[in-house]
Amino acid sequence: MGQTIAAIATPNAAGGIGIVRISGPEAISVGEKVFKPAGRTPLHEKAGYTVTFGNIVEGEENRDQCIAVLFRAPKSYTGEDVVELQCHGGLYLMQEILRLCLAAGATPAGPGEFTKRAFLNHKLDLSEAESVMGLISAHGAQAANAAYHALTGSLSAEIKTVTDVFIAASAHMAAWADYPDEIYEEELDYDLLLKQFKEARAKLQSLVEKFDAGQAITEGIETAIVGRPNVGKSTLMNRLLQKDRSIVTSIAGTTRDVIEETARIGNVVLRLSDTAGMHESDDLVESIGIQMAQDKLEHSDLVLAVFDGSDPLNDEDLSILKACEGKTSVAILNKSDLGSAVELDTVSPYVSRAIELSAKDPDCYDKLKDLLEALLGTADFDPSAAMLANERQLSCVQQAMTCIDEAIFAIESGLTMDAINVSVDAAIQPLLELTGERVSDTVIEQVFATFCVGK
Ligand code: GDP
Repeated sequence: MGQTIAAIATPNAAGGIGIVRISGPEAISVGEKVFKPAGRTPLHEKAGYTVTFGNIVEGEENRDQCIAVLFRAPKSYTGEDVVELQCHGGLYLMQEILRLCLAAGATPAGPGEFTKRAFLNHKLDLSEAESVMGLISAHGAQAANAAYHALTGSLSAEIKTVTDVFIAASAHMAAWADYPDEIYEEELDYDLLLKQFKEARAKLQSLVEKFDAGQAITEGIETAIVGRPNVGKSTLMNRLLQKDRSIVTSIAGTTRDVIEETARIGNVVLRLSDTAGMHESDDLVESIGIQMAQDKLEHSDLVLAVFDGSDPLNDEDLSILKACEGKTSVAILNKSDLGSAVELDTVSPYVSRAIELSAKDPDCYDKLKDLLEALLGTADFDPSAAMLANERQLSCVQQAMTCIDEAIFAIESGLTMDAINVSVDAAIQPLLELTGERVSDTVIEQVFATFCVGK
């Protein structure tokens, strides 16, 4: 650290106001070189949390009227001195003001560097820092709510209660190891330990179980809509998107590409791809679309397999059904308004859920919403509860659970306290990594590399 960084904190677009943020030991002196207060008091004599009106200057020239917001270390987002220059939000203007800040001695901030400094200065733990990106990228109220609660420590608090159990157990066992002949051995209540370990494990297990539902709400779930040509995939997708997005026609094979769209259906964000029919084709252009559709099916986390329910299933339908086996999938027997030629029981064995509907009926949106919320476990999602936000956090919890299982096994098998303690210590490490209390520089780099510049 040590360097003073600067970046444009507002989006890369014209807006009413644009903000250039400067943070670091020289933030105030850099700020003073580019900003001249309208009043007599220079910036360096101002207290923290003050707002000063003035001009952006380049030499003797005024470039823009703006206000400078001053934060003094450690009472700032980053924990360092921070100056935020709030200017008129022209794209050219913002770039010019950033250029002036860099010329005045600041260095360009890397992705997420402000939040990284906040983490390194103990303003946020690592999971809270990750929730900052969650808030910025939230697609809807539930996702934003969940990220807000993570930012204010809901996950950190839950992890701490678990970690504390193991730290206390480890300390107790370490004391026994140092004084083996003293009272500690009698005092160590294995039944109580076992109970505490099992309760802690259950808390982690519940976090893991809620992970997929949380991801479906915050990140969205990669969804493939598959089915033969003309069964109503495009009509259904348009219904889900509630707007006309792809061309719907009654000539087989007209939806040629995979079109990516994001649809929020109830609590769930579906990352949808409209697909060409999954049938053999001599047509080169269409074959490319079909290949993409098959790839999509393989790489998707949810498959919506559409069939014309008014027509008996054919071999192509059956091969699509077979491709759904083992995946989180929904068989949609479409065109129910034209009558039913396929039983739900026929398709159910291949898929997670099956439903009859008509994509032409506006109610089909609600029918699918209810089914998906039940299938993905998002119906009673509580955004204020602790939730794992990403694969990194999930992996930490899973590693801890493996070690807790080993500790439980060691106690139940009557192994020595040393053996128990090895597993207990091993369980603590990934939990501290989750919150960033004990984490490698590489992990920190990886976390903040996903951030945007200026955050
Ligand atoms: P895709 O090739 O699978 O994308 O099918 P489309 O969405 O293009 O639909 C093919 C034809 O079926 C169009 O004429 C649609 O209007 C019609 N269609 C789609 N869904 C329904 C439905 O639920 N009922 C009826 N009667 N027709 C439908």
